Amino acid sequence: MNPRIKTEAALSDSEERLRLALEATGLGTWDCDLQAGEISGDDRTREIFGLSINRLPLSRFLLAIHPGDRGKVSFAADSARQVSAPTQHHVELRVLRPDGEIRWVAINGKVQFEGQELYRRPIRCIGTVMDITEWKRADEALRAAHARTETILGSISDGFLAFDREWRFTYANAEAERLLHRSASDLLGRNAWELFPEADAFREQYNKALATGRAAHFEQFYRPFNAWLEIHAYPSADGLSVYFRDISIRKRAEEALQRSERRLRVFFESDMVGTIFWDIEGRIRDANNKFLRTFGYTREDVTEGRLAWSTLTPPEFRTLDEQAIAQLKTTGVDIPYEKEFLCKNGSRVPIIIGAAMLDELEGVAFVLDITERKRAENRLARDLEAMTRLQEVGSLFVRGGDLEPVLGQIVEAAIAISKADFGNIQLILPNSGLRIAAQRGFPQWYVDYWNDLTASCDCSCGSALASGQRVIVPDVEQSPIFAATPGLEKQRQAGVRAVQSTPVLSRSGKVLGMFSTHFKKPHTPDEHALKLLDLLARQAADIIERAQIAEVLKAAKEDLARSNHDLETKVRERTAKLEETIAELEGFSYSLVHDMRAPLRAMVGYTSILQRDAELRLRPDELELLRRIGLAASRMDQLVVDSLNYGKLLRQELPLKSIDIGSLLRGLVETYPNLHPPLAEISIEIDHLLVSGNEAALTQIFSNLLGNAVKFVAAGTKPRVRVWADFDRCPPGLPSESHDCAYVWIEDNGIGIPGYAHKKIFTMFHRLHRAEEYPGTGIGLALVKKSLERTGGKITLQSEPGKGSRFCVQLPLAVQHTTEASLSA
Ligand code: ADP
Repeated sequence: MNPRIKTEAALSDSEERLRLALEATGLGTWDCDLQAGEISGDDRTREIFGLSINRLPLSRFLLAIHPGDRGKVSFAADSARQVSAPTQHHVELRVLRPDGEIRWVAINGKVQFEGQELYRRPIRCIGTVMDITEWKRADEALRAAHARTETILGSISDGFLAFDREWRFTYANAEAERLLHRSASDLLGRNAWELFPEADAFREQYNKALATGRAAHFEQFYRPFNAWLEIHAYPSADGLSVYFRDISIRKRAEEALQRSERRLRVFFESDMVGTIFWDIEGRIRDANNKFLRTFGYTREDVTEGRLAWSTLTPPEFRTLDEQAIAQLKTTGVDIPYEKEFLCKNGSRVPIIIGAAMLDELEGVAFVLDITERKRAENRLARDLEAMTRLQEVGSLFVRGGDLEPVLGQIVEAAIAISKADFGNIQLILPNSGLRIAAQRGFPQWYVDYWNDLTASCDCSCGSALASGQRVIVPDVEQSPIFAATPGLEKQRQAGVRAVQSTPVLSRSGKVLGMFSTHFKKPHTPDEHALKLLDLLARQAADIIERAQIAEVLKAAKEDLARSNHDLETKVRERTAKLEETIAELEGFSYSLVHDMRAPLRAMVGYTSILQRDAELRLRPDELELLRRIGLAASRMDQLVVDSLNYGKLLRQELPLKSIDIGSLLRGLVETYPNLHPPLAEISIEIDHLLVSGNEAALTQIFSNLLGNAVKFVAAGTKPRVRVWADFDRCPPGLPSESHDCAYVWIEDNGIGIPGYAHKKIFTMFHRLHRAEEYPGTGIGLALVKKSLERTGGKITLQSEPGKGSRFCVQLPLAVQHTTEASLSA
């Protein structure tokens, strides 16, 4: 073969191989003559572009390109041409086929140049074209799918993570970032166990999933976040995809629920309080032992469904229950209320019940047996009533009054307290029998029958009276006291079946009566009731005793009133008689005095006539006797006059008024010549002093004192008397007065009075000298003292023999004087 042929053969061979290769890859080839501006392509290229002719101008060729991508062609062409070194260019663009179909093609091209350096210019461009429509579509579908996955993963509320087999984070959605407190950029590419060191439990589960190739689902607490996570981990060839969410709230709620269920269970089983679980149909689903014991049911009653709300509840509580159920349905709980439950044996137990719904269908109820409390309440109510009754009876006791109604009230109180039907109180009669003093509930014939009975009577009160002890007959039909007695029939007729009789004892233990309560049914009063009855019996005893004492007292008072009246009459009669006698005596003494003075005055007159007429005939000693007779008669007369005055002073009224003592004294001095100079010197140093006194009495008092002051002086001494007053200084011997008073002093220069006689000289007839020395009767100072006593004054003296005397008269100041004194002050 010649070389050309050989070469041609080789070429065609190589072309064939290229064609086959191109065919196998689906590539078309093209050739663009840049000089001519024409492009030609092989069959495949034409097929791809939908062109029928092999060679066509570039401008036409461009029409086959999608208008949106034409720029890519010119840009590629321009850039290919400007590059000095021949480079390959790649462009992907859309082809607009004549049939309207759009196809994606990938074009590779290379520009060929001609000439050197500056003269270098592109002359040709050759390349391949490949239809990549299918790839493009697949790629787009993939992209869309990827975008969709992204969107889904990004938007799901769960956290989503992906790890590769080296436990590096390859993906984390927004929720995962939030839950792990890390941004995706922090996580991606980093090892999970380095970032989260306390996650061993998770690691274990993930390893297992990877090892087994099976998905793992678990819930795990992660301490650093104090959170519970729910995990779904799916192994894949690349690693592990993990969905997770924070379930802490749910977990905690579950835990709380479990705790509360546990608590409820413990409470239920502890048997502290009767507890039942019930359903909305009213069935009792479960009951604890405490409940079963309290109401006498068995566990089988519960398990076999024999226990229901309706079997437990007496009919009258149904309405109350319905209200509670309505409340339960609206609020989930009811306010605990009191009702009764029926026991298996039919008896009733008072309870407090409180219930709560556990869910829509089931609930729990706590049942408290309040039998004891009820009993205590009843006892308390009874005590309260008893106390009120006792207090009422007590107030009756205080008020007093008629015995019968008071005892009636005590009987009523006893009936109320001991829940009796009848009752009475009997009083002991003087013959030791019993008389019904008050009763309630009995007909008259019954009262008449049992009245006036004695200790020997066949009845409870008779026995109690005989023994002095309380007698209780729980049932008259069974009692030996009433057996075969006519009294039994009477009790039957009156409807009395039981009776108690309590003796009413005084505080000294004397039986005052009997206190009985009667019952229509057989009955034994309990200890408490008996105690209260004793208290009432005590009250009754006090009231009876008091009434009896009051009666005795009344009789005594009446006696006393009668004697008083008699006495008064007697006293009146005697006083009248006495006054009559006194008047008679006064009249008598007056006439006696009067009659006595006449002979005395006659004696004085006759002796003086005899002295005068027989002076020359009689001897001196006879004349002396005559003088003495005359003197004695005058003294006697003076004595009679003074005595008369004293007597008058004692009887006569001495009305008080305000008196100016200064002018009274000056008037006195003027009246009596023996008080005038030269016989005496009297200085009155009181100007104006108002005292409260009786004028006649004061005149008599001061005339006596002044008279004595000038009388009792030594022979040859001229009497000098000073009178003055002061207000502040109370001399010893006088009481210091609380009210205002004046002290009037009378000081003389007389013979003085010895200390021993200071008190005595104020008594009647007491004198220190014989009449021959100093005349007088010894009545003057007694009169002074008595007068002062009767007019609110007092007297004392300071004196000793030879040194004169100083009498001090205390006188109450007149009210006017006080006012004047205080005004002048
Ligand atoms: P009479 O003056 O009539 O003797 P009184 O009763 O007035 O009686 O006085 C009693 C006695 O007190 C007097 O007898 C006298 O001894 C004594 N007496 C009274 N006043 C004074 C006086 N001023 N000085 C001394 N003795 C007096």
